[in-house]
Amino acid sequence: MSYTNETAAAANDWVWVADKENTFLKGQVESVSDDNKTYKVKIPELQNKVRSFKANDVHRCNPVQFDKCDDMASLTHLNEPSVVNNLQLRYQDDLIYTYSGLFLVAVNPYKRLNIYNKDFVKLYKNSTVNLNDTSNNSESDDDSSHLTRSSSVKPHIFATSEEAFQNLKTNKQDQSILVTGESGAGKTETTKKVIQYILQVSTSETNKAASICFENQILQANPILESFGNATTVRNLNSSRFGKFIKINILPASNELSGCHVDWYLLEKSRVVYQDSKERNYHVFYQFLKGASDSLLKEFDLNRSIYDYGYLKNTNHTIPGINDKAEFKLLDSAFDIMNFTDTDKKNVFKILAIILHLGNITFKSSSDSSRQAFLEEKSNKVIGTIAKLFGISDTAFKDSFMSSRVKAGRDIVKQQRTSSQAKFALDALAKSLYEMLFQYLVNKINDNFDVNAVDAFEESNSVGILDIAGFEIFEKNSFEQLCINYTNEKLQQFFNHHMFVLEQSEYLKEGISWQYIDFGQELKPTIELIEGSSSKKVSVFSILNEECVVPKGSDRSFLEKLHRELENKDKSADKSKEKFKANKIRDGFIIKHYAGEVDYNVDGWLDKNKDPLSNTIVELLSNSSSPFIQELFDERALQHSNVSDSPVKGGRNNKSAMFRTAAQRHKQELQDLMKQLDCTQPHFVRCILPNTNKRPAEFDKKLVLEQLRCNGVLEGIRIARSGYPNKMDFHTFAEIGS
Ligand code: ADP
Ligand code: MG
Repeated sequence: MSYTNETAAAANDWVWVADKENTFLKGQVESVSDDNKTYKVKIPELQNKVRSFKANDVHRCNPVQFDKCDDMASLTHLNEPSVVNNLQLRYQDDLIYTYSGLFLVAVNPYKRLNIYNKDFVKLYKNSTVNLNDTSNNSESDDDSSHLTRSSSVKPHIFATSEEAFQNLKTNKQDQSILVTGESGAGKTETTKKVIQYILQVSTSETNKAASICFENQILQANPILESFGNATTVRNLNSSRFGKFIKINILPASNELSGCHVDWYLLEKSRVVYQDSKERNYHVFYQFLKGASDSLLKEFDLNRSIYDYGYLKNTNHTIPGINDKAEFKLLDSAFDIMNFTDTDKKNVFKILAIILHLGNITFKSSSDSSRQAFLEEKSNKVIGTIAKLFGISDTAFKDSFMSSRVKAGRDIVKQQRTSSQAKFALDALAKSLYEMLFQYLVNKINDNFDVNAVDAFEESNSVGILDIAGFEIFEKNSFEQLCINYTNEKLQQFFNHHMFVLEQSEYLKEGISWQYIDFGQELKPTIELIEGSSSKKVSVFSILNEECVVPKGSDRSFLEKLHRELENKDKSADKSKEKFKANKIRDGFIIKHYAGEVDYNVDGWLDKNKDPLSNTIVELLSNSSSPFIQELFDERALQHSNVSDSPVKGGRNNKSAMFRTAAQRHKQELQDLMKQLDCTQPHFVRCILPNTNKRPAEFDKKLVLEQLRCNGVLEGIRIARSGYPNKMDFHTFAEIGS
């Protein structure tokens, strides 16, 4: 990427040059060709060899006084190598936080740094400065103060948190802190630091006991969410497999905490039934089996051996640094603090037990030509146990997955399933149960917050912290990647638009007439390609949803329809079509995201998008003799009975009841999130993974550069450059002016 306004180098200047092995190297310009297109550069690191480079691959180094600068927007020569180099120099000194204009960049230190204790909270408290104190401009139609970071304190997540906190108090406006990054980059740790800071500065003096109790509850939501929503992956031993938005309410006048709410997105359900080698299932399964009492396990017909469970036995059981038994104790006490009763807890563990048993129903390999499923002998006992725990009859349960009902003319006939179909139905049930359990837990946490919230006459404002995965571009990309990339596309649009609004207001204040470009618009075609719009009805989601309801819809027919309807054959004016193309072997499709082109593979998309539970099983379980199971499935049953109608909004408490497909649901949830964010003053944090070995002091330049390209930091610089003639250095200014 080359930046407008970047000054060209001349002979003797120090420059960064592109290098395959080292990403880039420092060198000194020997000479420049007459047409300014080729540079000869001497490179000390390569024994002073002189090499030729194209102008695009040569970027000027910054004067040494800029080394390790706090805010990269202030660099004289703002280019990719300079940005990466600055982050690297700082990282070597444990300066993991750096500003890049509006962004706070945080590079994972992979070691404990002593920068989050009470002294640091004190240091950052009240450290913001009021910009309006110095600018006394009557033309401004915006009478809210803009509090911003002070240059006297170093970049820190506490500084960003303080900025949000002070803006909330001064402007009585909701705030949001958007944290994104790759898996393992440090998002969840960062989120915890924000919450820690906000809680420490907001505790009320007048009502201390109640305040501390509520503070404790907010902190204790986390062990529950992490036990059920986190798992060990290759990239991160404690990887969150869902996104979350936590809002903490504060009374601006009294500083008091007054409420809290958690929203969640995109839980990775598939992990419940399948994990890659070297990874684990959700933490809670190991914690439960290792930590629960003998009597509790006996009650659910479980034993402690992890090897005995189909959904766990192929996973890495013990992870150095993770003590599942101790974590179970913490989970149990978190449940207590969140006011879960013994019955509530038992219900939760019962669902876990059912899931574990579901993974143990196995089938004989059938030799018979009908390929009909036959149960292994020992599965009958497992079925009995599950049916008892579910509170339904053995035979009805067995029937629900061994056979299906299909329409034959006017009749409904029972058809025996093959073993793979029966296994699919069992896995689908396990996955749905887990997701319903997660929803139940979050609802309970939120209900508890609501009960304990402070009643006040004064209206509260919130700080919302979003912890969600950044762009994912893998070897193989599926429906889950599309959902997360679509989310990031929207968040990037939000950022770009925010910059536009800020800039516009700056120009208005100064009375300058300037046509500033809304870079948010650049992302619109891709977003519309995925979700559609009022004028553009056909989109990836609309085609997917349609294929899920038409008879004989399949992944293949979905793919064919995508190509037929979205490929840009007629070079139409439809901008979103420019963002779509078929991949080389036409077994998938490519979307041009702002972070790069992503090749999606459509295997399994219809199943992933549909509600995988059959009417039979939902009906059966909504009539369970266990009130808890019944309640869990009631809303689902309501949804199934409405299948032929347009999507109905079910009860507030069950997300899945609202929509028929995963795509519909995610689109709606994202719309709700964006609506909330639109009313906030946002703050942007970008977490960076320094290496893939989880090691401290290792900084992989290429890896960092790729992340900066994907996460909008470099995009932010590009936009700032195009809009800030005032940031141009004198040399260029003089050149353009002459
Ligand atoms: P993400 O949520 O982005 O996937 P996490 O926040 O779970 O990543 O961080 C992964 C790991 O990196 C943590 O378990 C911790 O070991 C380390 N880490 C992240 N941020 C910090 C930090 N600020 N200080 C120390 N270690 C950190
Ligand atoms: Mg996380």
